[in-house]
Amino acid sequence: MTGQETHKTNSRQLLGRLRSVMAEEGEGQERLDQITHLIAEETHCEVCSVYLFRDEETLELCATEGLNPDSVHQTRMKLGEGLVGRVAKYGKVVNTADAPSEKGFRYMPETGEEIFSSFLGLPIQRLGENLGVLVVQSKTAREFADEEVETMEVVAMVLAEMAELGAFVGEGAALSARHTQPALFHGHSGQEGAEEGHVWLHEPRVVVTNPIADDPQREMERLHEAVEALRVSVDQMLDGAKGGDAEQMQVLEAYRMFANSKGWMRRMEEDIGRGLSAEAAVEKEQSTARARMEQVTDQYLRERLHDLDDLSNRLLRILTGQGAETGAEMPANPVLIARNIGPAELLDYGRSLKGIVLEEGSVGSHAAIVARALAIPLVIHAEKITTEALNGDHIMVDGDQGVVHLRPDESVVAAFRDKMAMHTEALERYASIRDKPAKSLDGHVVKLDMNAGLMADLPSLDSSGAEGVGLFRTELQFLIRNKMPRRGELSALYGQVMDAAHGVRVVFRTLDIGSDKVLPYMTAQDEPNPAMGWRAIRVGLDKPGVLRMQLQALLRAAAGRPLVVMFPFIAQFEEYKAAVRQLGKALARERALGHPVPLDLQVGAMLETPSIAFAPDKFFEEVGFLSIGGNDLKQFFFAADRENERVRRRYDTLNVSFLSFIERIVERCREHETPLSFCGEDAGRPVEAACFAALGMDTLSMRPASIGPVKSMIRQLNLSELRDVIHAARDTGVQSVRPMVMDYLKEKNVTMPA
Ligand code: PEP
Ligand code: MG
Repeated sequence: MTGQETHKTNSRQLLGRLRSVMAEEGEGQERLDQITHLIAEETHCEVCSVYLFRDEETLELCATEGLNPDSVHQTRMKLGEGLVGRVAKYGKVVNTADAPSEKGFRYMPETGEEIFSSFLGLPIQRLGENLGVLVVQSKTAREFADEEVETMEVVAMVLAEMAELGAFVGEGAALSARHTQPALFHGHSGQEGAEEGHVWLHEPRVVVTNPIADDPQREMERLHEAVEALRVSVDQMLDGAKGGDAEQMQVLEAYRMFANSKGWMRRMEEDIGRGLSAEAAVEKEQSTARARMEQVTDQYLRERLHDLDDLSNRLLRILTGQGAETGAEMPANPVLIARNIGPAELLDYGRSLKGIVLEEGSVGSHAAIVARALAIPLVIHAEKITTEALNGDHIMVDGDQGVVHLRPDESVVAAFRDKMAMHTEALERYASIRDKPAKSLDGHVVKLDMNAGLMADLPSLDSSGAEGVGLFRTELQFLIRNKMPRRGELSALYGQVMDAAHGVRVVFRTLDIGSDKVLPYMTAQDEPNPAMGWRAIRVGLDKPGVLRMQLQALLRAAAGRPLVVMFPFIAQFEEYKAAVRQLGKALARERALGHPVPLDLQVGAMLETPSIAFAPDKFFEEVGFLSIGGNDLKQFFFAADRENERVRRRYDTLNVSFLSFIERIVERCREHETPLSFCGEDAGRPVEAACFAALGMDTLSMRPASIGPVKSMIRQLNLSELRDVIHAARDTGVQSVRPMVMDYLKEKNVTMPA
């Protein structure tokens, strides 16, 4: 028998013994004690210790063979402190023949460890989460061989799985069951509102219940079969995606590369040889990839590691038979937890959701806009929540602060419910001014419209007190389907929208696709920068079939009633003229067919690119009305991607340059008597809305839930005075007028929205 084979036998024997410990009835502490004992014995080391996190920053010695038993649950160290803390902090193995001379070594007299020279410390980690540290030590000064380190990595992985399965649960903070403690996540607000509910994971986690296997041959076959099935499915996906989106192809190519990677396969096979089950071997590789993901800053590499992570998930689903459909029932008041989500997927869930929490995401994305349209509180950038949350967990989402309380304790629950009650009170306050105008103290009346996109939004017209629908995003109807809607369907739907609006003005914006709004049934474009790419009216004019179909549906829906049509993303006069020509053609066709035409037809454009603000006077004279799409306008004005939180947050809407630009647009529209409104998300933020109104913007369109707060703000203000404050602030040379505006609001005792 070769030395290597002997070693493999040992590692399997060790895992076999670990499994017996796991199978036995008993307390977590007993198990840990047995485990440290048998690891020390099998590895011929004098010491084996397990340190687990007591809280995020502190490790606690939870079991030991060889160190002073009295130090168990007494010895603690901070993350990064001593060699153990170093292993935990960096998630990397420390292997040294002379521990006391290592940088950062900390002598802990209570453990009596100075006599041990060799030290091997390994992170106990699972899917990017550090759970603790496993240490073996011996008196003989020697470095551990690679084979030994690899065996111990497998053991550490099994310990992580055992911890996940609750094998070490017992008395004391460090032995508390996983995923049962309260956890707080600080993210960013994507949509305001506070809601309470239960976790619903968009992609449920795969649970590995059998990390150890005793028939490596069988496990090897299972792995090979699963990888083969994976390769076939990746090839099929690639075939299906050919000629499509370059980014998607790139991801699939990366999948294929990983699925065929010999290194990946070899490492998993070796781990099976050491005694792991096929799924545990996959998960071990996945944990390594996640740990690397934490360290790597290069965006490209991170994305590839993400791909590997996705691929591992697929492989695990094949091996365990746990698909996305786990058979679990959606809990009452579901709060959706996901790494990220697209607008179409979100629309699939619809209003059933109480809240949404994303690990990634962005305020400017259309998923966020959908969340807003549905008035569902949204928190983005809640790091690691998908690893911590379990289906059904109690959760409280504070969309105002961007905070999420998972499994909150009673005091948090009470405080949160108070906050929700305050919210309800504020809503009642807004309800009391619902039928009153948004009239400032100095007599300016601002028209407040609402944004919509779904039939389900329409009831908000009455309840919010909106005067009309200033923006109906028609693309949402296209996004929620899996095939192109037909003209008849659309026409019926637009008709229902007009019926539900009871004669108030509804501005139908024609299809605004492209950028992040990708229709599943249209060939995605390979564009380096989709936000500045072939989108909105550019698509409509180059491929007029869909635009004409939509215009016809609108004309038919109006059937003798007034109709308002708005073209998105007009960047030059000619585009507006060309769009109007299409409308003219559609109208002529309707007339020729003898169909009733709208009683009155208003046609306008969105001002979403700086260029159109500088269009010739003639444009301002010809266009029926303009609506500023501040979400896009701001991203192009500052050259800051609305979906990239890192750059988006740098530029305040109340930045002097942006406000001066808005003021200039107001002036040009006044000169030419062009009706103007603002329908970007900023119109729904009370302070921003008040500033726009002070600068002369007399129509604002926002999500329904913002109407009350914005109206309440305007009714408390003297807008001319506020304009003077803005101008005075600008003259001081500040970057943003916000601080001075806020001082003014405070001085005037203006009640800020809850
Ligand atoms: C905007 O850009 O401000 C706008 C209202 O359009 P959307 O957010 O749908 O791009
Ligand atoms: Mg836009």
